[in-house]
Amino acid sequence: MKPEASKEDLQRVLHTIESKGLKTDVMYGEFQNVIGIIGDEKKIDFEQLKTLPGVYDTVRIQAPFRLMSRSYIAKDVVVKVRSVSIGGSNPPVYIAGPCSIESYEQLSRIAKEVKNAGAHILRGGAFKPRSSVHSFQGLGLDGLKHLRDVGKDLDIPTITEVRGESDVDTVAKYTDILQIGARNMYNQDLIEKAAKTGKPIFFKRGFSAQIDEYLSFAERIVAKGNKKIILCERGISPLGGSFKNQTRFTLDLNAVPVIKKETPFPVIADPSHGTGRRDLVFPMAKASIAAGAHGLMVEVHDRPDEALSDGAQAVEPKELRRIIETCDLLYRTLA
Ligand code: PEP
Ligand code: MN
Repeated sequence: MKPEASKEDLQRVLHTIESKGLKTDVMYGEFQNVIGIIGDEKKIDFEQLKTLPGVYDTVRIQAPFRLMSRSYIAKDVVVKVRSVSIGGSNPPVYIAGPCSIESYEQLSRIAKEVKNAGAHILRGGAFKPRSSVHSFQGLGLDGLKHLRDVGKDLDIPTITEVRGESDVDTVAKYTDILQIGARNMYNQDLIEKAAKTGKPIFFKRGFSAQIDEYLSFAERIVAKGNKKIILCERGISPLGGSFKNQTRFTLDLNAVPVIKKETPFPVIADPSHGTGRRDLVFPMAKASIAAGAHGLMVEVHDRPDEALSDGAQAVEPKELRRIIETCDLLYRTLA
């Protein structure tokens, strides 16, 4: 819209678009408002739209994930979670905690340590996506309650994964951020239902997903009116065939600057799932910050040998402290 366009002009344009069965998303700017059109683009006549009063220009954005692109949202998106700001030029944010919530005591013990080590957000899985039915599946609702209670005790924001559509409303009641895991990156119904809660969504890249495909699924969150998106590179499947792999996944750090170039949303790296090995978390954490990640997700356990899931990649609290101190130093040096 033109800077001088009136409210009525804006309403008229919205009405014109919506009367064709399309949805709209308005970006209210300091000088100018921008209207995004969501839906079948063949239904709209761009030339005709341009003739409406108050319209400055109509642009067809080329990126497949238009509403995620920098052509649509020019300024870096900063996602605020209580007093923590993620993205833009904010210093790195550290999300840490156990893979799974195992008991109130376990979570409380580890949470105190990760907070002391400098973590900003507490993680812990209650609904665990597991390949095997014989593995620990998480404590479910009890786990969510432990997360809420420990988060309150320590005054630290929390994040947990929502695994299924039917859990969205429950999980949203207990946590500050909803995580959608790698295995659910393609789950359109889950993504849209989670987006509609209005909570920040921590959206992990699927381990076989192309970046365009990943951002197109993330765009569904914006299309549901939620721009509080935190992207996460968590490693892709290592090459198959006859390779004997040393690591569980390959942390694709190319993805960090590529995604930052394409979209204004924050990008977090997860060197825990990205490697599957605790000895590799420190080097890959440093590499992630050097590549421009806005923060890290790190799995921590004070008794990794007893962890009910992902013990091999869990670092101990003192290692987390070393990671945070070194990454902060690295960030300041590079900034
Ligand atoms: C997790 O964060 O515990 C998890 C299961 O991650 P991912 O979806 O990346 O495997
Ligand atoms: Mn895990």
